[in-house]
Amino acid sequence: MRGDGMEATDRMTVLVTGGAGYIGSHAVLALRDAGRPAVVIDNLVTGFRWAVPEDVPFVEGNVADMDLVGRIIAEHDIGAIMHFAGSVVVPESVVDPLKYYRNNTAASRALIEAAVAGGVRHFIFSSTAATYGIPEAIPVTEDAPQRPINPYGMSKLMTEAMLADVAAAHPLNYCALRYFNVAGADPQGRSGQSTAGATHLIKIAAEAACGKRGHVAIFGTDYATPDGTGVRDYIHVSDLAEAHLRALDTLMAEPTRSHRLNCGYGRGFSVREVLDAVDRLTNRTIERRLEPRRAGDPDALVADNRAAIATLGWTPRRDDLDTIVRDALAWERGLK
Ligand code: UDP
Repeated sequence: MRGDGMEATDRMTVLVTGGAGYIGSHAVLALRDAGRPAVVIDNLVTGFRWAVPEDVPFVEGNVADMDLVGRIIAEHDIGAIMHFAGSVVVPESVVDPLKYYRNNTAASRALIEAAVAGGVRHFIFSSTAATYGIPEAIPVTEDAPQRPINPYGMSKLMTEAMLADVAAAHPLNYCALRYFNVAGADPQGRSGQSTAGATHLIKIAAEAACGKRGHVAIFGTDYATPDGTGVRDYIHVSDLAEAHLRALDTLMAEPTRSHRLNCGYGRGFSVREVLDAVDRLTNRTIERRLEPRRAGDPDALVADNRAAIATLGWTPRRDDLDTIVRDALAWERGLK
């Protein structure tokens, strides 16, 4: 025994839901790179089997399947869950809200119940800046009002609420990480954003730069921002994955405390700035088409990330738009 608690930390097996998806697969890589045991459950609806390394145990199934999750928890002696599985397309959530309350809220409820029943002590949840809706002030702090403007944000906020109540009633603590705009790809090229039908700006711009689409639409040029286009806080997916590892250590170090933390860099870039970066890095010019605003888009969304940095001891290492775009481009070029 080393007596510093690290032995238990290193050995605790983490169940990663949605580990074959975009962000989840990067978390699996981060756990594996750190020598920490993980098991993945994914239904492969939007994820890819190849995104999970062969030496990481993989179960194809649904997180709402409490019997299955219960068996995994018991068999692998799961101590913590990182919960990425869910549906993530905001406009789809508007036309099919019940899909979001099923795949996000109801599935999370079942998963949390299985976690409590199985004695899982720590739960890390993929929440979102969409829980804030249209923020009153920028940068957004964690105590800003949470008033989602779409079912996606509401489905995630409801899970945050369940976790708060469950943590008060049972021996489980949680960390809800509220992601801002996640982009980029594994710098070693092992994973990246691969799901078809992309809607996110950097992915779309990378597709355009690789000749997979003819132009990029700029949705709105009359926002209250310096160049009139929407401003967002883009965070590199590998830095976000690292935040999950730090969150796990933080939950283990103080098992009676839970956290809700923003994950972003605290700096925003406009749509035009993103497209200019892509052009600069490719020596080409993406065709821009000016289009009307997309419904429900706030002018600017930038994280106050001081709490995450202080609480988690998290050090963002790729806080640079060009690095994010370069990694997204490298991944996109390798995709068929
Ligand atoms: N955007 C755009 N064209 C696109 C996709 C996005 O102009 O093809 C803008 C969008 O209006 C927002 C920003 O880019 O201001 C980021 O949008 P994205 O869909 O990537 O993420 P969101 O912030 O909506 O979660």
